[in-house]
Amino acid sequence: MNTYVGRFAPSPSGPLHFGSLIAALGSYLRARSLQGQWLVRIEDVDPPREMAGAADIILRQLERYGLEWDGSVRYQSQQSERYEQLLAQLLASGRGYYCDCTRKRISAIGGIYDGHCHNLGLTQGAIRLRNQAQISHFNDGLLGHIDTEYSFAAEDFILKRRDGLYAYQLAVVADDHDQGITEVVRGNDLLEPTVRQCSLYQTLSWQAPQWLHLPLAINPDGNKLSKQNHAPALSESELSHTMASALAFLGQALPTELASAPVAEQLRYAVTHFQLARLPQQRQRPVPTLA
Ligand code: GLU
Ligand code: ZN
Repeated sequence: MNTYVGRFAPSPSGPLHFGSLIAALGSYLRARSLQGQWLVRIEDVDPPREMAGAADIILRQLERYGLEWDGSVRYQSQQSERYEQLLAQLLASGRGYYCDCTRKRISAIGGIYDGHCHNLGLTQGAIRLRNQAQISHFNDGLLGHIDTEYSFAAEDFILKRRDGLYAYQLAVVADDHDQGITEVVRGNDLLEPTVRQCSLYQTLSWQAPQWLHLPLAINPDGNKLSKQNHAPALSESELSHTMASALAFLGQALPTELASAPVAEQLRYAVTHFQLARLPQQRQRPVPTLA
């Protein structure tokens, strides 16, 4: 029998907020309710967008919420050798190529890259995938059949940027594969890029994981969560309150007598009572206001 392996893969751009807690909690509940493993991976491949100390803050927050992971935390900043090896393999087989087009040129042709450099034999610049996978849809475990705009899905997207940084698509696929992830549970903000990840899996002849995209938390007014929602919870009662809202958001509301119970107790209940069928199938959902 295949064991379920899930993961939470935050970028350390700041502390966990309600939205990222949802991704952590949703992936945790799914994995634990199936007696699976749950891994944590810090996606620190984009230093300009990172906040010093955020990775540690996130890990401490996960601990405070009782979200215990298996094994040691993986850091993408330590996987460069692997990414380089994959890039070399793709370049050598013609499934990757260098591109020196400017952003200006690409926006002038409508924003979707046209494969201009793929036969030029360049030896520096950004590295793009020669995308011949022709994948424009995938199946989501919660939302069902998801179609993506063909031009986006078929684009020769970037694997390594001209400034030397690895693209999210490359790093996430390499690590999900290498860590044996069987199902990716994450927020709906990452629904669209999934087709690109499918293309990369196919190009590398790797089996793609299952996908499940959770609703994105928004304010009751329909806007993006404000900075106030980003403040890390401090006291035990705030933790319980936030956990209760997060569970309600995921359609897994606690019985009232557990509303202010210690988070460990709330979580134990949520794992044993977790039901996939109760997860809301919306792409966005306001944060519930609990009394
Ligand atoms: N590191 C990404 C983020 O925090 C998530 C990656 C993923 O779950 O695939 O937005
Ligand atoms: Zn180019």
